[in-house]
Amino acid sequence: MARKRSIALAAGTVAALTALALTAVPSATARETNRSGPGNVFVYRVPTHTAADAQTLTGAGFDLLEHRRGDALFVLGDARDGTRLRLLGFAPEVEQTMPDPAQAPLRLRPKSGQLPAGDPNETYDGGYHTVNAHYAHLDHVASQHPDLATVVTYGQSWRRQNGRPGGYDLKAVCITKRTGSDCALSPNSAKPRFFLMSQIHAREITTGEVSWRWIDHLTGGYGSDQDVTALLDSTEIWVVPIANPDGVDIVQQGGDNPLHQRKNADDSNGSGCDFTGQIGVDLNRNAGTHWGGLGTSTDPCSEVYLGPQADSEIENTALEGLFRNLYPAVRGPGDTDPAPADTRGIMITLHSDASMVIFPWAHDHTVHTGNDAALRALADKLGTLTDYQSGQAGEILYDAAGGTDDWVYDKLGTASFTVEVGDSDSRGCSGFTPAYSCQDSYFWPKMKPALMYAATHARAPYTTTATDD
Ligand SMILES: [Zn+2]
Repeated sequence: MARKRSIALAAGTVAALTALALTAVPSATARETNRSGPGNVFVYRVPTHTAADAQTLTGAGFDLLEHRRGDALFVLGDARDGTRLRLLGFAPEVEQTMPDPAQAPLRLRPKSGQLPAGDPNETYDGGYHTVNAHYAHLDHVASQHPDLATVVTYGQSWRRQNGRPGGYDLKAVCITKRTGSDCALSPNSAKPRFFLMSQIHAREITTGEVSWRWIDHLTGGYGSDQDVTALLDSTEIWVVPIANPDGVDIVQQGGDNPLHQRKNADDSNGSGCDFTGQIGVDLNRNAGTHWGGLGTSTDPCSEVYLGPQADSEIENTALEGLFRNLYPAVRGPGDTDPAPADTRGIMITLHSDASMVIFPWAHDHTVHTGNDAALRALADKLGTLTDYQSGQAGEILYDAAGGTDDWVYDKLGTASFTVEVGDSDSRGCSGFTPAYSCQDSYFWPKMKPALMYAATHARAPYTTTATDD
């Protein structure tokens, strides 16, 4: 089914706004064209006036970025999107001009199945690791530290399942000083479990690099770093570095100009997206928790397309199967049912780049969980360690239903967080594709204390208080 992205507006509204735009649009469009040539992609800074504006932008099909500065939201799009924003009554300003994927040289490389496995040095865009490199890294770590690291294949990507080129297995690593039945796929583990995942949104490439360094920090520090040694003696650490490998495969095809693929590669619901749209399902809107709520779109070309049904995507069902094998379900079905105070385990899913620590519910910020005080206290602590804002998504960014953190808390009762890895003070390390040097110089030093804190508190997250160390 071919489908173009379109903007639905009431006819009367269009007529009124078109009249308004006759004077406003030409000068602004000309400025953008002169500035960078036709066809370029911009990050638009879009001042908003009400909380409903985020939903208006999502509903109109704009690529709303995970970024907020005061009342301003940010939209990725071309000059036509700038015009459409003005037609809707917004006053967008060009914040940043992105390289145009259509004009940039594409560094073509063999599809994954043809590449020799086991090269952790395969990179793109100045050092970012490819999917194959991440998987080779997991195998390398397990071979170097057989007493600490166990690689688990928990499923297959959509492309692999459907026999398409460029598909991948889905992989996790369990890291602990292994004794007894540690790392078994059973929810009743001897040790509490801390789970870190990244790149469910493929283009948020900083997040996979944080996971890479987290794995190295743990496996390299056991026996020499006192805190790491104590952590791995007491806790299982699970890491999924690439939750959406098909999407990352598309991103990395851009080489030094990574493509902006956010979703997976499932094009069975619509493959005729034009330049401003994108194939695939947003895995962070597809999970079977309050599916179809705020911040989602039924347009297959939208960046927040929720899929044809809840949990329709194999990347999600496989991940949820892994979660169910790692954490017992301890919470009732109601939105305000609390998980017991002695519930163990923490899950963090990394995104970029809003510089925020977010906790359930993301589907509706006017509803608080039954563990709100504890989740809020832990998020506040992680926010202090990272210098990030914390809150429910709709309190500080925008509401969005069907995400990983809501699913894990909803179905299992596990304390779950989204950490938006970012930089709000323009150090040159912001956006999807910051210079690779930012990974070691900025992002990892910022994230390491927060990850250590969260992992250490996996034993009793709901007894964390605002004054806890
Ligand atoms: Zn994201």
